[in-house]
Amino acid sequence: MEPLSSSFFEFTMLKLLFLSTPVGPLGSGIGGGVELTLVNLAQEMSQRGHQVTVVGPEGSTINHVSCQEISGTWQEMIQNNHRDTPIILPENSVLGNMWDYGRRVQANYDLIVNFAFDWLPFYLTPFFDAPIAHFISMGSITDAFDEIMNRVAIKYPKTIGVYTHSQAETFPFNSICRILGSGLDLSLYNYCDTPNNYLAWVGRIAPEKALEDAIEAAERVNIPLKIFGKVTDEEYWQTIRQNYPHAPYEYEGFFNTVELQERLGQCKALLMTPRWVEAFGNVAIEALACGVPVIAYQRGGPAEIVQDQKTGFLIEPDSISGLVEGINHIDKIERKQCRQQAEANYSLKALGDRFESWFDDLVKR
Ligand code: UDP
Repeated sequence: MEPLSSSFFEFTMLKLLFLSTPVGPLGSGIGGGVELTLVNLAQEMSQRGHQVTVVGPEGSTINHVSCQEISGTWQEMIQNNHRDTPIILPENSVLGNMWDYGRRVQANYDLIVNFAFDWLPFYLTPFFDAPIAHFISMGSITDAFDEIMNRVAIKYPKTIGVYTHSQAETFPFNSICRILGSGLDLSLYNYCDTPNNYLAWVGRIAPEKALEDAIEAAERVNIPLKIFGKVTDEEYWQTIRQNYPHAPYEYEGFFNTVELQERLGQCKALLMTPRWVEAFGNVAIEALACGVPVIAYQRGGPAEIVQDQKTGFLIEPDSISGLVEGINHIDKIERKQCRQQAEANYSLKALGDRFESWFDDLVKR
């Protein structure tokens, strides 16, 4: 039998209900990094002996954890909303249906954990009897969201968790956020010491990720760029294809973790070019776990992850020539250091410890 982790003795075993993102099923990639964070956390918490149930839109998949699938219309992605965009809920909203399910079963759980970046779960918080922890997966987007989140943050202190300090700073309630970071099942990521002459770009293909900057940099250095990820904005993708007819890039597709890491590991570097304040950037730690250095704009989550000159380069935001310089110096980075950073800071154990202690605090209150 495996020895029990020290946390087994320190924390009460909890019954946890995780309510997923309503923009698409878990495993589809439409929800972006929060899907991976939720899956990793659910698996780690149940491994530690907690009883975890995940509630997600119909079609959601997760191994070794019980999943309640809920039907209904997905929420629109809100990344491109304006500050004054109003709250939108479609007819037969899956978000509404998931929270209705949560309301009905709440008595069976010690804690509900919200992973939806949306208005409704915050609005509903005072109407629930069970305590609710909110894990916020993006920076501030609309005034209406900020207002309702702020209300919850003040009325229920310590119930708001975020990935990073830079993400927290986008909100009015930044000083009372719990910083939780992210983590990976490192056993799924193989270290690759000898890459091919390719660059990688990984993520949702959508304007806030500014894929065009990575393509332009790849064109200038004339090194092929492999693109991995879900096209979540088709119009944006078609515009890129028209604008860069001769650039050396290839769209590889969307892969599960095991397939993605195998391909990503063979690349010389990952380019991260977000135009927005990236809340974290799970793809950065996935690259590091494979031994792939990260060349990222110095804003948001990646700036808190990449160790400049050691596990990659932090570049002046929106500077293509900065990216080019980073690529030209990439051989100065030792790939082993990248893997070591992932092991030191982004293991499942580190992720589980941070969340478990947060949940424990909330339940004890
Ligand atoms: N991803 C994936 N397969 C792919 C490309 C990307 O599973 O082929 C996942 C990746 O593992 C990561 C997510 O897409 O978890 C992107 O998350 P990130 O935190 O980088 O950005 P977000 O989408 O949340 O803005």
